[in-house]
Amino acid sequence: ATANRALFMLFGGTGDLALRKLYPALFELYKKGSIDNHFALLGLARRPHTDEEFQKMVLDSISSEADNQEQAEEFASHFYFRSHDVTNVEHYRALSKLADELDKKYELDGNRIFYVSMAPRFFGIVAKNLKDEHVLSDNGGFNRLVIEKPFGRDYDSAEKLNNELTTAFKEDQIFRIDHYLGKEMVQSIPVIRFGNPIIDAVWNHNYIDNIQITLSEKLGVEDRAGYYDTAGALRDMVQNHTMQIMTLLAMDKPASFVDTDVRAAKIKTLENMNFYDTEGVKENFVRGQYGAGSGSAAYRDEPDVPHDSNNDTFVAGKVTYKLPRWEGTPFYVRTGKKLAAKATRVDVVFKKDINNIFAKAYLPDTLKTNVLSILIDPRGGITLRVNVKDSKQGFHTETIDLDYLQNDARASEVPQPYERLFHDILNGDHTNFASWPEVAAAWKYVDPIQKYWDETQPNFPNYEPGSMGPKASDELLARDGHSWYFPE
Ligand code: NAD
Repeated sequence: ATANRALFMLFGGTGDLALRKLYPALFELYKKGSIDNHFALLGLARRPHTDEEFQKMVLDSISSEADNQEQAEEFASHFYFRSHDVTNVEHYRALSKLADELDKKYELDGNRIFYVSMAPRFFGIVAKNLKDEHVLSDNGGFNRLVIEKPFGRDYDSAEKLNNELTTAFKEDQIFRIDHYLGKEMVQSIPVIRFGNPIIDAVWNHNYIDNIQITLSEKLGVEDRAGYYDTAGALRDMVQNHTMQIMTLLAMDKPASFVDTDVRAAKIKTLENMNFYDTEGVKENFVRGQYGAGSGSAAYRDEPDVPHDSNNDTFVAGKVTYKLPRWEGTPFYVRTGKKLAAKATRVDVVFKKDINNIFAKAYLPDTLKTNVLSILIDPRGGITLRVNVKDSKQGFHTETIDLDYLQNDARASEVPQPYERLFHDILNGDHTNFASWPEVAAAWKYVDPIQKYWDETQPNFPNYEPGSMGPKASDELLARDGHSWYFPE
């Protein structure tokens, strides 16, 4: 790999995300040579620390990944710290000077990556001050802004935030993080579809009965209630991750696999969902909240959750498209906490052959539908359910799974999402980031659902911990003659 040169400015440099995910990801890039001695990272947070203290935090965060102490210390020596109040313009002027010094010292060619890993209310002000106080490099290097999630809490707030960002940065300088787009098997979806003619050929409503997307967690709200209770599963998981995965499954073939073409295909797909009015929401989306059960507390009894909270910890919905490719083929999505399994997966349920010749000769009809499953978490894999003859006397059929599951060696090689995403940011590749029109369409889709839910009283709690959500989720599919494929 050719090493990239860049100065990283990390707003929220002592935060949980930075220490737990971002520094280990950068360290991997360093070990693999994607960055070398021509990089520096300036950590910024309000509380003061010396460079040495900050480097110690960085060392702790990467200690389990280091081949040896010398390598870890060499890496950490590129880290600097400044106490920075994001609202104080003087502080940005000092930053500008320091950035020029680091640029010179490490020969960074003026390349700057501004990573805002702070509470979302600060995203806009940081971008504005970076521009107004001339922290952006102006000597031919690139300026890239990286924004953590959440990107707004509805369309209006997202648009306002986007307007703030785009007064300072152009769309092609902005990288909106959706870490699910950094996952190995999510990135594999376009290859599975467009790299295999036998799959590509049947990827439409003629052959596919329905597509199911599940993002289920075993854990409850844990210690995130403060944020989660103001967001809910619809905002936290559906508007972003679920919709991005669904879009990769539904999009038409991009003209090529470069970011501009992939974005164009994704935008068209998101804008061609059937957006629901209130009636549509009532019919096609269900919400849930977990109660108490088998030794575990109800959501409403979790720390920091109000006792009368109507927040959704589960969502299931039926999404349809105006695209000819998907005429009559629904996409069912589902996500929630305290469910039976930790799994992120896609199950593509194919149609049955209406002319089953075996059923005529040998009753009963035992053929099952083909199902292609794309396993994303916890272990990457692909399975395809096919019908074969069984081995017994006479002629009977049985169903088997052709399955590929990453083994331990392969799984341990797979780069973590943030490593992949940093790699893309350094290379200016937007394929795995959400563009503004995508985010906008996703909010426009979600807003009427959230609005209807905010205005009506749910019957919560309505599902047991360790189940797969409320009954209404099963009924949503049963109505169409379908059922959730997972868990079998
Ligand atoms: P955190 O609270 O742990 O860290 C916030 C950082 O911002 C700290 O370094 C703090 O010192 C700094 N900060 C706060 N107020 C400041 C101010 N006024 N001026 C300067 N610095 C200030 O938060 P986090 O968990 O690291 O999350 C950061 C971002 O990443 C958020 O947008 C969050 O939604 C997102 N995110 C986090 C995770 C995660 O696992 N932690 C996962 C997904 C997304």
